Amino acid sequence: MTKLYNLNPSNVFKYFEEICNIPHGSGNMDAISKYCVKFAEKHSLKFIRDDANNVIIFKPATAGYEKSEPVILQGHLDMVCQKTENSDIDFMNDGLNLYIDGDFVKAKNTTLGADNGIAVAMILAVLESDSLSHPEIQAVFTTDEEIGMIGAEKLDTGILTAKKMINLDAEEDDTVTVSCAGGSDFKAVISLNRVKKSGTKVTVTLKGLQGGHSGMEIDKGRVNADVLAGRFLNHMFAISEFDIIAINGGDKGNAIPNLCKMELCVNNADTFTKNAEMYLDILKKEMAEREKSFSPIIEIGEKAEYDILHPEIRDNIIFTLLCLPNGIVEMSAEIKGLVETSLNLGMLNTESDKMTLLFTLRSNKKSALRFLEEKLKTFFGAVPCKIYTSGHYPPWEFKENSKLQALYKEVYKKHCGFEPKVEAIHAGLECGIFTSAIKELDCIAVGPALYDVHTVNEKLCISSVEKIYNVLISLLENCK
Ligand SMILES: [Zn+2]
Repeated sequence: MTKLYNLNPSNVFKYFEEICNIPHGSGNMDAISKYCVKFAEKHSLKFIRDDANNVIIFKPATAGYEKSEPVILQGHLDMVCQKTENSDIDFMNDGLNLYIDGDFVKAKNTTLGADNGIAVAMILAVLESDSLSHPEIQAVFTTDEEIGMIGAEKLDTGILTAKKMINLDAEEDDTVTVSCAGGSDFKAVISLNRVKKSGTKVTVTLKGLQGGHSGMEIDKGRVNADVLAGRFLNHMFAISEFDIIAINGGDKGNAIPNLCKMELCVNNADTFTKNAEMYLDILKKEMAEREKSFSPIIEIGEKAEYDILHPEIRDNIIFTLLCLPNGIVEMSAEIKGLVETSLNLGMLNTESDKMTLLFTLRSNKKSALRFLEEKLKTFFGAVPCKIYTSGHYPPWEFKENSKLQALYKEVYKKHCGFEPKVEAIHAGLECGIFTSAIKELDCIAVGPALYDVHTVNEKLCISSVEKIYNVLISLLENCK
C-alpha cells in the first residue's frame, strides 16, 4: 500500500508519491525527465524532450474548447536536496521517505521537494484526466531551476504557442504572484600588493548577525557583516594606526553575510583593542533591537612580521567598504511594500594576491537593474580593480489589465469566499524567462501552501493541495 493512497485529490497525491520515489535533485534530471516521457507515451500525448531534459507535453482541447487559446501549465522538475546529519539517504539513488503528520506531508530527515514536485503532480493529474474541460494544454516541465533556472534558459520557447501561462511554483495558497525580480551577479576583483611589516596581529570577528536571503530578507533591517566591517575599519582608521592582512565574510552572493573576520596588524595592541572595544560597544547598543545576538570578538595574536596590504590598497579597500551601495535601492511605487531594486554584498574574500567582492543585484524592472549595474561600475571605476558581470536573468514585470489575474481572482473567490492577495516578489521565478521570451504572455504564479522549503523541515499542506487543484481546474474550465 502506498503511503498517500487515501489523500485527496488522490490522483495528484499518487503522482506526487511517484515523483518522490525518483531521485530528482538539481543536476540529476535524467530519470525524472524519462518519467515524464513515459507518462506522455502511456497516455498517447504528444511530447518533446530537449537536450536540457526539459519535457513539454501537449494535451488537446476538450470538446467545446477547440477554438480557445492554449494554456501553459508550468513547474520545475528538480528539488533542493538537504538532509539532517543522521540521515543516510543517497540523493543520487534513493527516493524519499514520506509520512503524514496531521494536515501535512513531510519527508523523514530530508527536504520534501514539494517545491516543485507538487506542481508536476497537479499538472500530470490534469493531463491524465478525461473528465475535465479545458483548452489545449501545453505542459512545461523545466529542469535545474534551483541552480540558476538552467532548463528554462535553454528551453526553445518557440515551440509554445500559448499566450497564457500558469506557473505553479508559488508557496502561499492565499496569494497570486504577478511579478518577480530579475537579477545579475557583479564581481569586483582588486589586485593586492603586499609588503612586510612587524607588528601584533589582532583579529576582529563581527559575528552573531542574522544573515538571510538577499532578496526576500533585504528589507528586514538585517546588518550586513561585510558592510559593518567597512564602518568599523573607517572609524578605527581615524583614531589609530593599523594595516590589513585579510578580510573575509560570506561565501555567496545571494545571502546576507552574518560574519566578517578582519585580520589586522597593529603597533600597539592594547590601545587598538581598547578603542575597538569602545566602538564595538557603541555598535552593539545601536543595533541592539535589530541584531539581538550580535557578539563581536577581538583576539590578540603574535608579534611577528606579516605580509600586509600596501597602505595605498588598504586605503582603497576601506573607502570601498565604507561607501559601496548596499541594501534597498528603491521601493516599488506600483505595489505597496515591494522592494523594487536592491543589491547585496554577499562575499568578501581575501587571497594572497587578490580580494574579491561579490554582489547579487535584483530589480523587478529591467531598466532599473541596468542602472544599478552602471552605478556599481562607475563606483568601482574609482578603485583600481577588474569587474565581471554574469548570471543575468530577466524580471517579470507587472502587467496591468491582466485577464488571467482577473479570472484567477474571480474563480478563487468563488471557491474560497474571499479574493487572493496579489503579490510581487523580490526574488527570481522562471516566469521572468518566459515573459521575456514570449511576447504578450499573460502569466500568474500560484500554488498550494508549502512551509520551510529548501530545509529538512519542508512540509506540504494537504488540504491546501485540494483547494488549489480545484481552483486550477475551475480556472482552466473558465479559459474559454
Ligand atoms: Zn521552486
